Amino acid sequence: MTTQVRTITTETACIFCRIVRKEAPASILYEDDKVLAFLDIRPLNQGHTLVIPKQHYETIYDMPEDLVCHIYKTVKRFAVVLKNATKADGITIIQQNGHAAGQEVFHLHVHVVPRYEGQKLPHFRDIPNTSREQLEQVAGEIRQQLQ
Ligand code: 5GP
Ligand code: ZN
Repeated sequence: MTTQVRTITTETACIFCRIVRKEAPASILYEDDKVLAFLDIRPLNQGHTLVIPKQHYETIYDMPEDLVCHIYKTVKRFAVVLKNATKADGITIIQQNGHAAGQEVFHLHVHVVPRYEGQKLPHFRDIPNTSREQLEQVAGEIRQQLQ
């Protein structure tokens, strides 16, 4: 009973669940019945994408393996699409579990980040917000690569 109440409360407040339910704005790139991919509001570089399960799981520990596989299948697709769309030199894939690992949003998400030679990876929390207009412009370019 306690667990159930906590889960309902978490999903109601969770920003990524709100994006899944289209209650909060996001530049969505792809979705199917299980997964959603959208641009990070504080991108390290243009095209920095988050891939999440539509169902609320805080971390990878309690996620079913087949869902993990489905998420990473989408991550793989975006690694290729983003590399082409952004002309990146490389792609970093990061998934943080728990505060000690640097996790800030407790709805599992995989960062797929275009990288360029010589650029160091800062802590995600040190990156500033970007505008919705800028995100939508980048999203439009990436969506063309998805077709
Ligand atoms: P974490 O440190 O938990 O791995 O990363 C959380 C990420 O979620 C950060 O990169 C942050 O910019 C992103 N984020 C937090 N809130 C929002 C939001 O409302 N919309 C979008 N698109 N990204 C968000
Ligand atoms: Zn959630």
